[in-house]
Amino acid sequence: MDKNYFESLDKCSRCGGCQAHCPIFYETGKEPFVARGKIELLENLRSGKINWNDKLADIFSMCLLCGACTENCPNGVQGDKLVMMARNELVADGRLHIIKKNVFQHLLRYNGRLNAFGKCLYLYQKTGMQKIVRASRLLNLMPMDLAKIETLLPPFADGPFRKKVPFINRVEKPRLKVAYFTGCVTNLINHQVGYSILKIMKANGVEAIIPEQFCCGVPAFASGDFATGKILGMRNIKEFTQEDVDYIIFDCASCLSTWLDYPELLESEEAGKLAEKLMDVNRFLVEVLDVKLTPREMGVKVTYHDPCHLKRTKNGRTAPRELLRRLSPAYEYVEMGLADRCCGSAGSFNISHYRLSQQVASRKVKSILESGADVVASACPSCMMQLSHALKNEGSNVAVKHLVELAAESMK
Ligand code: SF4
Ligand code: SF4
Repeated sequence: MDKNYFESLDKCSRCGGCQAHCPIFYETGKEPFVARGKIELLENLRSGKINWNDKLADIFSMCLLCGACTENCPNGVQGDKLVMMARNELVADGRLHIIKKNVFQHLLRYNGRLNAFGKCLYLYQKTGMQKIVRASRLLNLMPMDLAKIETLLPPFADGPFRKKVPFINRVEKPRLKVAYFTGCVTNLINHQVGYSILKIMKANGVEAIIPEQFCCGVPAFASGDFATGKILGMRNIKEFTQEDVDYIIFDCASCLSTWLDYPELLESEEAGKLAEKLMDVNRFLVEVLDVKLTPREMGVKVTYHDPCHLKRTKNGRTAPRELLRRLSPAYEYVEMGLADRCCGSAGSFNISHYRLSQQVASRKVKSILESGADVVASACPSCMMQLSHALKNEGSNVAVKHLVELAAESMK
C-alpha cells in the first residue's frame, strides 16, 4: 500500500456518517459495504491480520464509486479513491476477473477491435438475431442473470460516429476552437449526442476538431487495472496535444472526471498542463459561450439527473440546471427529489451486480415518476443507458435525453 493510502486510512474516526449517504449500504444494510467497513478491512490488511482473498474481492466489488461518502465525510476521507486503490491491489494480487481482463486488455486498448465489437452488436440487433435469442430463452439457462443483462444493451449504431464526421468542423471566422472528446458511448451508440454538439458549436461560431482518441480508461481504472487505464490515458494525452485548442469538451461526466484525474493517475506533467482546458459541454455552453437559446414552444416537463462524476466538478451541479432554465419555455424544468443520488450504473456495476444495481435505480425511477416529468435529462451516457433500462422495466414512457440533445432540438 502506498503512503497516501495509509494517511487516508488514519483520517477515519469511525463516526459512521458515511452510512447515511451510501446507496449500497442503504440497500443492503451491511457494514462491510460502506466506507467505514471497508476502511476497517483495509486496516486489518495493513496490519497483516488478513490477506487478500476472494471474499474481500467480493466486498470491494460492492461499491459504485459514487463518491457520496467522500463528499460527506467530515474528516476528508476519500472512500471512493480508497476502493479504487484496493481494487488495484486486488489486480496486483492476480484477482482481476477473467472477463474484465480480456475486455480491458484485448478490446479497450484497440479501437479497431472496439469498433468491430460495436458493429457485431449492431448486426446482432438488426438482423433479427437478438429477437431469436430472446424468444429461445436460451439466456435464461445461463448464470449471472445473463438474460436480464442482455436487455441492458442499447441500440448500437451502424459504425463509429468519429468515422462519419470530419476531423475539423469548420466555421467562418471561428470565435473559439475546441477539441471534442466523444467517449465510447457517443461514438458507438448515441450519435445524436455528437451531432447535437456539432450543431450547437457551428451555430455559435466554434470550430470543433475531433482528434483520434481512445477510451478514457474509466472502466479499467475503476476495476483496478491501472496499467490499461494508464496506456489509454497516455495515448489520449498524446493525441490531444497535437493541436492547440482553447478547450477540450466532454459530453460524458465519467470521461471528464477521468481526464481531470489524469495528472495524478498518469503522473503526467503533460496531462496537468491540459487540466484547465477540460470542460463539460454544458458548462462550456453556459459559462464560455453564454448561449442564448431561442426555444420553440413545446411545453415539455423535464427533470434532471446529476451524474456522480459531474456534480463534484466545478459548477457541475449548477451549469446543467442553468442550461435547462435557458430552454424555457420549451422545457419546463422540475427538480426531482433524488436528483443527485447515484443511478446504480457505475460503469460495469450494472452488469456484475445486475439486481442490486436495479434496486438502486428503482429509487431514482420512483423519484423521476413523482416529478411528473415527460423527459429526464442528464449529462452522462452511462447514466442515460441505466435510466432508460430502469424506466422501461417499470413500464414508463418517460424519455431519457442528453442535455445537448434538448438544446439542439430547441434551436431554430
Ligand atoms: S469514512 Fe468519514 S464518514 Fe465514514 S466513518 Fe470514516 S470519518 Fe466517518
Ligand atoms: S463510493 Fe458510494 S457506493 Fe462506494 S462506499 Fe462510498 S458511498 Fe458507498
